[in-house]
Amino acid sequence: MFSPKKLIALAAGAVITLCASLTADAASYRYDYNMDGVSDSADLQALGDYLLGRGTLEKDAYDSGDLNGDGKVNVYDLILMRQYNEEFSQKAPKGMWIASGYDGVRYFWWNGDKSLFCPASTGVSTDFTFTQEGSSLSLSLSTGGTAAASIKWLSDKSFQLNWSGTGTETFTYYGSYKINTTYDISGKYATSGKYGERWFVIDKLSGDHRKAGSNDRSYFSYFFDSGDLVLVYRDGSISKCGFTRIDRDHFTVTWPNKTTEKFTRRSVEVKDGITYINGILIANKTYALPESYAPGGLTSETNAAYNEMKAAATADGIPMWICSGYRSYSYQSQLYNNYVARDGKEKADTYSARPGHSEHQTGLAMDINYADDSFLGTPTADWLAKNCWKYGFIIRYPKGKESITGYKYEPWHVRYLGKETAKLVYESGLCLEEYLMITSKYS
Ligand SMILES: [Zn+2]
Repeated sequence: MFSPKKLIALAAGAVITLCASLTADAASYRYDYNMDGVSDSADLQALGDYLLGRGTLEKDAYDSGDLNGDGKVNVYDLILMRQYNEEFSQKAPKGMWIASGYDGVRYFWWNGDKSLFCPASTGVSTDFTFTQEGSSLSLSLSTGGTAAASIKWLSDKSFQLNWSGTGTETFTYYGSYKINTTYDISGKYATSGKYGERWFVIDKLSGDHRKAGSNDRSYFSYFFDSGDLVLVYRDGSISKCGFTRIDRDHFTVTWPNKTTEKFTRRSVEVKDGITYINGILIANKTYALPESYAPGGLTSETNAAYNEMKAAATADGIPMWICSGYRSYSYQSQLYNNYVARDGKEKADTYSARPGHSEHQTGLAMDINYADDSFLGTPTADWLAKNCWKYGFIIRYPKGKESITGYKYEPWHVRYLGKETAKLVYESGLCLEEYLMITSKYS
């Protein structure tokens, strides 16, 4: 028989040898002698009882409790377990955790000095830092507040925080996620997909969505897990979705049921009767300009962009001039009425805008060389189609998009958007209505 002293010395030796390999492995924290699903100090009692001959261990309990893997559950395991318990109780939370039980559902990203939590109810995230001593946590919030809690680990994938004086919150491990700010998708979006048109408002790490025209909102907070978008709803349900960025203003989300929804950034602002979508002034059949809107000519930015484009065209041996630039409300009114008198209203609407609906009133649009079919197929038409985006313009009424723009193909009509946006629209292959997910229809 070993003397008690010798037993302890041996056990200590075993601990030293085994610790190095086992402490790094979170799974080794799992022991469940009383089979209640968690590894905690109640297991210490169960193991003690067993070793003292006061109880038995079921096979699973026996297997999970053979911590040093020598095929037996004995006092060596007891000593290891005590050590693990000690380390475990002092373990700091790390990674992404979904919490519930105190302030509804919220997620916590434990990441040392850059931690944050975000309740699904408000979606407003709060940054915090924390320090830990034993099982006591002290949080210091970016809002200026502080909070204290004690931590109790239930397993390596679950712990509880007992917030001083306010209640208990249970945390479930989500993953070792890292917040990546390149995935900021703040903004207002219109979507299209199986659910029809929906509107999403996303602000920092939260958002809500509703069906177009409905006020019934579903609120969520979100984070990115590698490339996947994870939505955490107020009821605690989690949707892990595929996420594909298309360009600055578009992305698609593939929901857990595999349906795909396309998101289009679209924030609408109406100022003095003028509609701006994502800051882009819109004049089409849906959106009219007031009679009072009269820049009096091309805007200086549009003019400068045209001059740059013309210089480049000239250098390429391409003739270019403006055959029609700015047109006032009253001039457009005259034009349109003449066309109606000649061809009838239905026909006139396919090629001429009603007063207030003409892009020429914006001071941002112009017709190049010939505003009729004689322009088709000319070297200038080809050059314009290939190059105008480089100077901030788009062909506003492209071929094949007639039913969306509401106008026949007009290779001569260009619209100034600025270089960045013109490039995006050009590369998307979409017309401006599609790009912004808006309509062009007289009401
Ligand atoms: Zn035009």
